[in-house]
Amino acid sequence: MHEWSVADAVIRTVINWAEENHVKEVTKVKLGIPSYSFLEVDILKEAFDMMKKDSVLDHAELEIVIKEPTFVCKNCGYEFSSNDVKDQLDTVRSEFGEEYPLHLMPALAPSFLKCPKCGSHDIIVKSQDITIDGIEVKESGTAETVS
Ligand SMILES: [Zn+2]
Repeated sequence: MHEWSVADAVIRTVINWAEENHVKEVTKVKLGIPSYSFLEVDILKEAFDMMKKDSVLDHAELEIVIKEPTFVCKNCGYEFSSNDVKDQLDTVRSEFGEEYPLHLMPALAPSFLKCPKCGSHDIIVKSQDITIDGIEVKESGTAETVS
């Protein structure tokens, strides 16, 4: 039930933010979650909708953006995304199918990927946090975006 504690943390954060900024009504919360966080988006939204009641978030919609992992080469320091190694990933994918292991465990990257710059397999996954990427509020009829 990790989703419920994430929803709880997000709601608390936004409520605190709203109080500090004298915001009466939040209309949307944009949440960025790492693709490998194993969070169920549907459950997260359900938890958010259940827990937001009777707060400034009562009418707020939760928008979730999945963040693709970023890799760092320990040999040359090059940073790249899964998009930069798409051809390598396609090879892995054709070998293992859609449920290829890297999709589930980016930490396995060194076993399957090499740095697109220097060719080293000494690759680590850059840690990513769950982030609140934007809050939209309703103030005298107009919505504004705050990040
Ligand atoms: Zn490299």
